[in-house]
Parts: sequence; C-alpha cells; structure tokens
Amino acid sequence: MSQELADLFDLLLFDLDGVVYIGPHAVPGAIEGIRAAHEQGVRCCYITNNASRPPAEVVEHLRELGIDAAADEVVTSAQAGVTLLGEHVPAGSRILAIGGPGVFAALRERGYVPVVSADDEPAGVLQGIGMDLSWAALTEATFAVTAGLPWIATNLDATFPTTRGLAPGNGSMVEAVAHATGRRPIGVGGKPEPALLNEAIARSGATRPLMIGDRLDTDIAAGNRLGIPTLLVMTGVTSASELACAAGAEVPTYVAPDLSCLRPGTSWHDLQWDKR
Ligand SMILES: [Mg+2]
Repeated sequence: MSQELADLFDLLLFDLDGVVYIGPHAVPGAIEGIRAAHEQGVRCCYITNNASRPPAEVVEHLRELGIDAAADEVVTSAQAGVTLLGEHVPAGSRILAIGGPGVFAALRERGYVPVVSADDEPAGVLQGIGMDLSWAALTEATFAVTAGLPWIATNLDATFPTTRGLAPGNGSMVEAVAHATGRRPIGVGGKPEPALLNEAIARSGATRPLMIGDRLDTDIAAGNRLGIPTLLVMTGVTSASELACAAGAEVPTYVAPDLSCLRPGTSWHDLQWDKR
C-alpha cells in the first residue's frame, strides 16, 4: 500500500519557531519540504503560540523566506484565545487587551472592542505577549481580574526565545497577575491546550491532520491530546537525549531530522518512533 504524504494526511499543522524558521532565518530543509507538500496537494497551516504578531506579519515573514502562505493559513494563540473568550462574553463586548498588536488585531477581527483600562468597562480580559508590555498594563489586568472578569491567556509559555537568550514569556506575565490576584486564567488559547489546533483544523475542514513541531511538551503534547498523529523534527529545542526520555503524552508518532521528510519517496513507516 502506498505511503505517500497525501495518502496519509490532508493537512499539515506547522509550528513555526524551530521548525520553519529560527529568528529571521529559514530552518534547513524547511522551504523545500513545504514546497514539496504544496506540490503534492497537501494543505499547510502555520500555528504559533506567539500572540504578539498578527497573521499578516507572519505571512510577510514566510514570503520573505520563499513560502507562499495566505493570512487564513496562519492561526495565532491570540485568535484561539478570542474563540475561547466567545464562550464567556457576548459578541461586540469591550475586552481589556494586554499584549502586542496581535492581541488587539485578533479581538477586532471578531468584532470585539479592545480597551486598555479596567475603567473602560470591559467584559473580559485577553492577555498575550507584547514586546512593549508595561507594568501599567499588568496593573490594569490585575484590577480587572480582581473584579472577577473572565480572564483568557493566549498561552502559558514561561520563556520566549530571542537572539540574546530566553526572555520572560507570556506565562511569566500571567503568573505576575495570578500572583497579585490569587486567580488563574479560565482558558488558554495556545499549545499544549487544543484550541489552536482545533481552530486550524476547523478552518480547513481537514480530517487527516498531522501536527509538526520541535517541542515535546507543547507541540507533540497538543497533538496527542487531540488524538492526531505528530511529527517531531530535530531542528529546534528537543535534543536526542530528551527524545529518548519522552513518555506518555509527549511521545511523538514520527521523528525526522528536518522537514525534508515531506518530499516524495519518504518511508513514513520507517519514521515511526515506536517502530525504531
Ligand atoms: Mg517551536
């Protein structure tokens, strides 16, 4: 029986950092792999826990690297967070927006009105990372959360990779508000929670998705929680020794050195991690 990519999967869900690019640069094998997937007629979707940039900026970055992508093929944790927020607040509500432009854009595109003060009568709080995030913004979040408003975090990553090392991620900023208020967010948009993947799968109508990532505790765990196959590529943060110790929900279905495995002729049977 044929084991070509299109026979196995109808949607590839790519994590970005450490899989497609690292900082401004493409990961070796990524461009040729994604182009090969396109040529085989398999849809590609890019999903990121980074809420600071709107999809159009991510698309611009991908196009600079030579990857043809559309804005609706990029799903951010801010967008997944807004979907979760919709379960708790009515459409059109004012929402206290904490974070970068991606947080504000995700609220506006679903008809919410982002506000920046707890005195602006918001109906909920959406908190994501922003490169200019201030103590003043965290203070507004603390006031609103203390008042009992529904509080959604885009993601809970403790750290954020920069070219100079690991910076505090959104999870660390959420902990500041949690520490001050004694409360926890009622929902989280990003991986390993399933909202981000669900959003991407719902947009495409896919029935045979593959989650591709470089982190066991977010990418692979998110795919396993949804019960879909996962591919770990060794181009990002996971070392061979960490992979060897993977257990439970963090065990990938497939492992490959990089995305060149998406080219025709790959034996997916041989990439299965439990068949090693
Ligand atoms: Mg990554």
